[in-house]
Amino acid sequence: MEFIDLEAQRCRLETRIDDAIAAVMHHGQFIMGPEVATFEESLSEYTGVPHVISCANGTDALVLALRALGTGAGDQVLVPSFTFAATAEAVALVGATPVFVDVDEQTFNMSSDTVRAALVAYPTAVGAVAVDLFGRPAPYADLRDVLGGRWLIADAAQSIGARHGDTMVGALADVTTTSFFPAKPLGCYGDGGAVLTTRADVASVVRSLRVHGKGTHKYDNERIGYNSRLDTIQAAILLPKLEILEDEMERRQQIATLYSEGLADVVGVPTVEVGVRSAWAQYTIRAESRDEIATLLRGRDVPTAVYYPRPLHLQTAYKDFPRASPTLKVAEELSEIVLSLPMHPYLDEPDQRVIIDAVRDAVRR
Ligand SMILES: *Cc1c(COP(=O)(O)O)cnc(C)c1O
Repeated sequence: MEFIDLEAQRCRLETRIDDAIAAVMHHGQFIMGPEVATFEESLSEYTGVPHVISCANGTDALVLALRALGTGAGDQVLVPSFTFAATAEAVALVGATPVFVDVDEQTFNMSSDTVRAALVAYPTAVGAVAVDLFGRPAPYADLRDVLGGRWLIADAAQSIGARHGDTMVGALADVTTTSFFPAKPLGCYGDGGAVLTTRADVASVVRSLRVHGKGTHKYDNERIGYNSRLDTIQAAILLPKLEILEDEMERRQQIATLYSEGLADVVGVPTVEVGVRSAWAQYTIRAESRDEIATLLRGRDVPTAVYYPRPLHLQTAYKDFPRASPTLKVAEELSEIVLSLPMHPYLDEPDQRVIIDAVRDAVRR
């Protein structure tokens, strides 16, 4: 059994990905070839966000967004501690200071309560990066209220395809970043990322920054930028994958529902408010006995993963950055009890029954 079965998706797309790669080999425009613009337009249409600027990876997307918002030395930026390191890393890379904030136990995300508490301690923070952990959108409307005039970036590396009501992720915040790392809900066959924004001013700075801070042409440099473009081959691979994303989202939804029906009485299961669709990048349960569960599952050939075994504020590289309070209790607790089960759109019901039975057997021991 696979934790994420990328091969099943490749089989479904038959030769479409091979053909797309062959087409790029044939035209030879490996950097900023026509597929890049076509993919940006397609993602713009899918999410309803006017400006989509692809780039080299999801970490760069965060750096580009932070830079475009003018973030730099001396700025404090609120970030959740329970996330992948890149969220805080990008803040540090632009010279600003990440301030670690606790998360909500049910949603795994920053909440208006945890951000409000952080702003009492750090009222001068200039903005926040909210993460849609495991695919579930953060509460953007509430966060925007609490943040007042400060900016808000959505780190949607795990949540492309999710939505709140009729509004797709990408359109929930002024500036959203995402990743096309292979295991993400929309993944390519290498590294890739994008910035999505409703703001034309931000879009224009991001477009400049991704090509060395270019001005009106390539050899006119207005600012210090980066080399951060999405490879044409990766854009070509993403196009057929984007076409089936909506169907994959519905499948993930059904799989999550079956998991929750089978497990809600024995472990903590992830819940999503009515009207919200998670992208279900991960299906993550909470159980005191998560290590025992993982061991029993491994014995039955069921892979699991712990995202994340240690919150960022306790990691060597990040422990000296400020935190909203001396202990971030929920982030610390979650790191001890979370366990992610196999989750991908091609997980079939018989395999899911094996996983559910195994978790139930492990809990009953
Ligand atoms: C994967 C991920 C990133 C970074 O994306 P890369 O493409 O690997 O650089 C950033 N934030 C979160 C929450 C992620 O899961």
